Amino acid sequence: MKLVSILLTLGLSYLGVWAQAQFPVLTQWIFIYVTVFVVSWIGGFINGIVATVVSLTLAGFILIPWGAFSLHDFVQILVLSSLGFWISFSMDQYKKSRIKISASDELEKSLGFLDTLLENIPMMVFVKDAVDLRFVKFNKAGLDLVGFQREEIIGKNDLDMFPPEQATHFINYDREVLKKGGIIDIPFETLNTKSRGQRILHTKKIPIMDKNGTPLYLLGVSEDVTDKIESERLQIQVLAEDAAKMERLKMQERETFVAQAISSLSSTLDYQETLNRLVTILVPTLGDWCILTVKNDEGQFERVESFHSDPDLQPYLSEFIKLYPPSPEDLEIQKALLKGESSLSNNLNETDLKARSQDPHKFDLYRKIETHSSMIIPVKVRDQVHGAISIARNSRRPAFDELDLILAEEIGRRAGTVLENSLLFKSTQKAVKARDEFLSIASHELKTPITSLKMQIQMLQRSSQNEKIEKPLQLASRQINRLTLLVNDLLDVSRFDSGKMSYNFENLHLGPIVLEVQEMVKNDFHTSGTDLTVFIDNDAEIKGDKYRLEQVIVNLFNNAHKYGAGKAVEIRLFSAEKEICLSVKDNGKGIPAELQNKIFEKFERGRQDSNISGLGLGLFISKEIMTAHGGRIDVESDGEHGSTFTMRLPLI
Ligand code: ADP
Repeated sequence: MKLVSILLTLGLSYLGVWAQAQFPVLTQWIFIYVTVFVVSWIGGFINGIVATVVSLTLAGFILIPWGAFSLHDFVQILVLSSLGFWISFSMDQYKKSRIKISASDELEKSLGFLDTLLENIPMMVFVKDAVDLRFVKFNKAGLDLVGFQREEIIGKNDLDMFPPEQATHFINYDREVLKKGGIIDIPFETLNTKSRGQRILHTKKIPIMDKNGTPLYLLGVSEDVTDKIESERLQIQVLAEDAAKMERLKMQERETFVAQAISSLSSTLDYQETLNRLVTILVPTLGDWCILTVKNDEGQFERVESFHSDPDLQPYLSEFIKLYPPSPEDLEIQKALLKGESSLSNNLNETDLKARSQDPHKFDLYRKIETHSSMIIPVKVRDQVHGAISIARNSRRPAFDELDLILAEEIGRRAGTVLENSLLFKSTQKAVKARDEFLSIASHELKTPITSLKMQIQMLQRSSQNEKIEKPLQLASRQINRLTLLVNDLLDVSRFDSGKMSYNFENLHLGPIVLEVQEMVKNDFHTSGTDLTVFIDNDAEIKGDKYRLEQVIVNLFNNAHKYGAGKAVEIRLFSAEKEICLSVKDNGKGIPAELQNKIFEKFERGRQDSNISGLGLGLFISKEIMTAHGGRIDVESDGEHGSTFTMRLPLI
């Protein structure tokens, strides 16, 4: 720009000089001053002066010859140059004033722009005086939020506008900002508004300083985050509800799993079956493999069952339990077996597995069966540790957590109860077997001396003419008969138990058997004064074992006599719907409803409120015999006025 103006100065000066030579004096001066004017306009004050000096000097030298330079010329040049200087100075001043005016215009414009900007920012913006903390500016969004008119707020401070507690809070922060001289961020603060109640604001406060760092104003920008917080709260609530729902579902799944496990375990009383079910229940739902350790009859803990979800890995698991009984080095299993405490181990690495292994082969098997996290749960029977469940997961499944441990402990507890029951059942079975064996041997052993005794008495009865011993011999014979029946009953029971009861089936009628039995028991009924009436309404042919059917009928007659309280007994043979039925009705005490099924069980003696002796076997044997004949036996009684036993057999 400078170079251009110098060139222009020279060019125009020359033009002025040239014009002096060409035109009349006034035109020449006009040319010169136009030149000075243009140059000072473009190049400024200095260039204007240079242009004046150059053009006048050149004009002077060219127009006035050297030596003819008079005082008049000198004064003239001085006046003319002054005029040039004045023009340059005036132009310069004028330009500067123009620049100033446009700068202040610009400032005003940009301030207006800032104001508009501030006014339209969709957040609350306010400015406070740094000295008395009175509001000097408050934008529209702020006014809308607090619910005041601008006149109501400008010039006031927080204490004039808001509740004292809130105002003190605002003022404290203001002071802190001004003292610190830097921005302060207040993530949450509450503001009571006129129209929208209590709102939550996120506010930033900034001090505005002068050049010397003295605070002049405090600028505050607040965002109303109430809705944002509410929506975040709702979002959190929804997430929490979802999580709770998931948790409930998980709990339900766990409860179902426990319920199914318990029902499966409880559905058997067999000890071995229970052990087997226990491992298969837990895999794969809870773990990938499971090993069961229990106390054997010698009181030693041994690993008895194992189950792997991957059939290819089962051989390794089987080998593991065969080769490695619970070892003292395996602290987790010892904790379960000795202290009855469960343990949970996660993220098992090679070092951990080595620590559990006594030799490289065991370590190798641990790796093959894939052990990444494991739980060991004690199983207690009557508060004593009876065994432990070891259960593990591979690294492809999430490690066990505390909930898994609780679940496994629950199953361990239930398993203890089920095992206790099956152990009891096992020992009961053992006892029953021992008893049956004893009864079988005893009854066989008794049978021989009884038979010989019976023969001796019969011989004595036949040979003796002594009337004095006739009665005692009759009594002895009756007792021997009773004893024979009892021993026979015992023998029959052991026959049923061992499945050795045999039958000789033939076509027969029940009528003759009934009459035979009537004949047999007649004396006993007569002696006790009990009326016995027999009705044969119908006597169709059936298939049966005569000896065994007679045994049932004898038992029913005898029971009616024994439990009939000496009152009349009525026997009826009749047919009903493809069946031939024999009913034996007595008028004794009867049998309560709750005992009517039980009395058909082995050794069941029902209501023992009398001193009538018996083994509780007669009805059991009768029921077995009837079942073998494809028939049945039942009882009807109101529990007070006698009872009616009815045996039913299918017609041929
Ligand atoms: P036992 O007579 O040796 O006890 P049973 O098997 O024949 O054995 O009978 C079982 C039980 O049924 C008896 O102990 C008795 O309580 C009850 N019972 C059997 N028959 C009658 C009856 N006619 N009246 C009342 N109770 C009876």
